[in-house]
Amino acid sequence: MARIFCIANQKGGVGKTTTTVNLAAGLARIGKRVLVVDLDPQGNATMGSGVDKRALELTVYDVLLENASVAEARQRSEKAGYDVLGANRELAGAEVELVQLERRNQRLKTALAPVDAEYDFVLIDCPPSLSLLTLNGLCSAHGVVVPMQCEYFALEGLSDLVNTIKQVHANLNPDLQIIGLLRVMFDPRITLQQQVSEQLKTHFSDKVFDTVIPRNVRLAEAPSYGLPGVVFDPSSKGAVAFIEFAREMAARIERLSA
Ligand code: ADP
Ligand code: MG
Repeated sequence: MARIFCIANQKGGVGKTTTTVNLAAGLARIGKRVLVVDLDPQGNATMGSGVDKRALELTVYDVLLENASVAEARQRSEKAGYDVLGANRELAGAEVELVQLERRNQRLKTALAPVDAEYDFVLIDCPPSLSLLTLNGLCSAHGVVVPMQCEYFALEGLSDLVNTIKQVHANLNPDLQIIGLLRVMFDPRITLQQQVSEQLKTHFSDKVFDTVIPRNVRLAEAPSYGLPGVVFDPSSKGAVAFIEFAREMAARIERLSA
């Protein structure tokens, strides 16, 4: 059975997509079968996995509207080592169209069920909002991974997300839990980042992943080559951290499912 996770944070530019594609590539490296679902109309996870969003005939949009199955719409990224259910700008319209439909929260969950046995992990890259698209992600998932930068307002922003997750857990998806908080774009030379990192550990204790993803330019360069950093330059500091994170994540999930 696939374990399904949302990579979520309602802020933009915090490292969700970078985490999704590099965790996916890291898990693929240790032999896991992975599907990345791009739920952001920007399509960055699609492009960053080497799939051209402009050339897609079927996307997650068609899947949400039940015009296509996941099996029909997914693409294989040979270079990245995992499958991608892609997105492009068309997905921006789904929000409005879904509102009028029945089971509007449950569309993705229903669509993923038939391919469940084909994957060990499904990673859902969420848009920077707590929208109906994100809700579809949260209703499908066993857990949430929250990438965050250790900045002054980081904790404040987190409470909205934590409340949303609690509400979805209580009303829509009793399986849902926070798997962990991942510190990303970390620069240990910045005292404030060290302080916020300590605060995070105080508030969330073992929910904070041990692995810390450093700020590393190779991770930022990789998407322009259509590759996750882990594939683009596996020996770079950022890639090494994500490979370590994939191991930590796999071990944590094994413990939780035991
Ligand atoms: P989000 O999906 O939350 O909007 P992204 O993953 O797209 O965030 O990251 C925002 C920007 O920061 C991108 O340009 C990305 O390449 C860059 N970035 C992400 N993580 C790192 C990192 N660890 N080091 C350097 N740049 C990073
Ligand atoms: Mg993104």
